[in-house]
Amino acid sequence: MIEGKSSEHNEIYFVKVGCGPKKGFMEPCFLCKLFTMNNTNILTPWNAADKLAWFNEQTIKRSYKNEVVSKIDDLKKDFKVEEYGSLKINPERYPLYLIKSKNIDPKKKTILITGGVHGYETSGVYGALAFLKDEAKKFTDIFNIICVPCVSPWAYETINRWNALAIDPNRSFIPNSPAEECRLFLTAIHSLNIKIYAHFDLHETTDTDNSVFRPALEKRDGIIQEVWDIPDGFYLVGDTENPQKEFQKAVIDSVRRITHIAPADNEGMIIGVPVEQEGVINYELKKLSLCGGCMDPEFSTTTEVYPDSAKVTTENCVKAHVAAVLGGTEFLLSIL
Ligand SMILES: [Zn+2]
Repeated sequence: MIEGKSSEHNEIYFVKVGCGPKKGFMEPCFLCKLFTMNNTNILTPWNAADKLAWFNEQTIKRSYKNEVVSKIDDLKKDFKVEEYGSLKINPERYPLYLIKSKNIDPKKKTILITGGVHGYETSGVYGALAFLKDEAKKFTDIFNIICVPCVSPWAYETINRWNALAIDPNRSFIPNSPAEECRLFLTAIHSLNIKIYAHFDLHETTDTDNSVFRPALEKRDGIIQEVWDIPDGFYLVGDTENPQKEFQKAVIDSVRRITHIAPADNEGMIIGVPVEQEGVINYELKKLSLCGGCMDPEFSTTTEVYPDSAKVTTENCVKAHVAAVLGGTEFLLSIL
């Protein structure tokens, strides 16, 4: 789920998003309304003390070491595993890993897979690791494969969307990012000095987006958030500037063999964004500093699994992500 705000020309606009980016909408003069609300103490954005209070409420709920790092270790026989930094909050506990095919060849095209940009979106982390374990080797003669399976491990352990500073990484893939998760990731990928041909960024859209994370966003920014229905099913977010429709279709067709695709609503939308083709919406990935656009790939897709559906299981969600990367990679192979 992607969300945020930015300001231009003395206006504030909000981007309401599911785990894929949701359509932005302009609210001219909203700034004035906000000031009015602040004057009446209806909504006041968090200051540093508020963010610290939020941080102090967070607790560790699961183990990055046991559930993620152990799986990374298992991949070392087939891939190179590099530690590209660690999170300042606890460097021992949160090393950051990049996994890549053993023989990176600049003549090959390079596929990047990312998971855990939002740490709570579990099947993205496990899906990236499962693709490497079960499927990636068949492609390593043809493509360079690079994977960062858990970009935001503190958020993985605390089941959070934000990092420890209450920053959403998936609006923060910019140079000198305030989110160290993004800063370290970008430095690591750029240091490979290799063009990213295709990028799969693996996410979930969850019920807690509406029940936990958007209410928290409302409090943090002091801005009322609209509510929309969480779509029941898998969908993709492509790039408005470079939609690559056939590529997206190949991903959807692969995933539908594993799980159901989110239908458009009565207005032809998913999370408020017009559906471009079944299960696919587009968003301005680069302009909004989203992970899927940060390396300016020729092909990019952001996957959105709905893990709270009555029709799926945890395993099914992981397999959906594997199928997404598999279907997209087979498409890329077919057009070489
Ligand atoms: Zn997400």
